[in-house]
Amino acid sequence: MKIPFNKPYLTGKETHYLYDAVSTGKLSGNGKYTQKCQKFFEEEYGFGKSLLTTSCTDALEMAAILINIKEGDEVIMPSYTFVSTSNAFVLRGAMIVFADSRKDRPGIDEDSIEALITKRTKAIVPVHYAGVACDMDKIMELANKYNLYVVEDAAQAIDSYYTGRDGVKKALGSIGHLAAFSFHETKNIISGEGGMLAINDMQFAKRAEIIWEKGTNRSAFFRGEVDKYGWVDIGSSFLPSELISSFLWAQLENLENIQARRKQLWAQYYYGLKEWALKNDIMIPFVPSFATINGHMFYLVCKSPKQRKELIAKLKENDIHAVFHYLSLHKSPFYIDRHDGRYLPFVDYYSDCLVRLPLFYELKDEEVISVVDYLIN
Ligand SMILES: *Cc1c(COP(=O)(O)O)cnc(C)c1O
Repeated sequence: MKIPFNKPYLTGKETHYLYDAVSTGKLSGNGKYTQKCQKFFEEEYGFGKSLLTTSCTDALEMAAILINIKEGDEVIMPSYTFVSTSNAFVLRGAMIVFADSRKDRPGIDEDSIEALITKRTKAIVPVHYAGVACDMDKIMELANKYNLYVVEDAAQAIDSYYTGRDGVKKALGSIGHLAAFSFHETKNIISGEGGMLAINDMQFAKRAEIIWEKGTNRSAFFRGEVDKYGWVDIGSSFLPSELISSFLWAQLENLENIQARRKQLWAQYYYGLKEWALKNDIMIPFVPSFATINGHMFYLVCKSPKQRKELIAKLKENDIHAVFHYLSLHKSPFYIDRHDGRYLPFVDYYSDCLVRLPLFYELKDEEVISVVDYLIN
């Protein structure tokens, strides 16, 4: 029995909606399906405004333009993340100030952020790793105190929540001024490549639409708000075609179903491995009481790189594909000379010791059981 790390799930309706988009002849962006998806996200998760993008990378680049990142600005983010989180801000001339991860989970160490803030700091970019929320009250308080923007990298965090000290439960991506999501084929809901920018601080709403449409006020023109459209700002082609959004719509119709199954698989791993992990000094995901899981990822953190290597090899012998994750960005060939030299022990720890197990919608109960059995026996 061969078990891949990931297998993109198709609900069966994708080609139906694609065919519909094709047959109506409206193929470029911001048509019926784009609007249906955006409306869904706004209503379901309480985002001020949602704009589909061609990737989460693009949504992050839009965020960097929107908050006016300039040469010399500093942006604080975890080093344990995907390159796009930082690249988007580096492209606008920012210096990235990398923070360490927490001891109990790979997310940013919220308590380390304040010491990294300087007069040049413009934004904090928390990454909700594995769809588990960062402590957003702490981060928003710092942002208010120092007048900073918060851009949530919610690439992995669709349909996950954070409960604040006030007891109010909010969707991830609805808390920061801006948030970026991914619909890449490795995420919970997919459109091949794809993403979304969520805008919660509505001062950005109008300009976001302009940046999205190549720096023009074309969206306002199509709504009849202006009688001609032209070049009014910088921008790029950040919006996806209707071919992508029609595909995404089929996924959104099935979101509840997809999420229920992924969470079930996550729980099977969790309860199947809990005791064994404890006995072997292996860390399993810790979910703080303010956070939820969204079944995006199930990971283990080994006690050493050697243990991880053996574990991956053992699974591979049995045709099971488990993979590690990010390499510390502060040590990357591109950034190592720009990094201020701070030692980030927990980032290195997750970089060296974290391993992700197969988790995808069509993974069968028996398959999870056999992964668990190979690990614990
Ligand atoms: C997947 C991912 C991205 C990039 O998403 P794309 O849609 O591929 O651009 C960015 N950040 C994080 C944390 C991710 O997991």
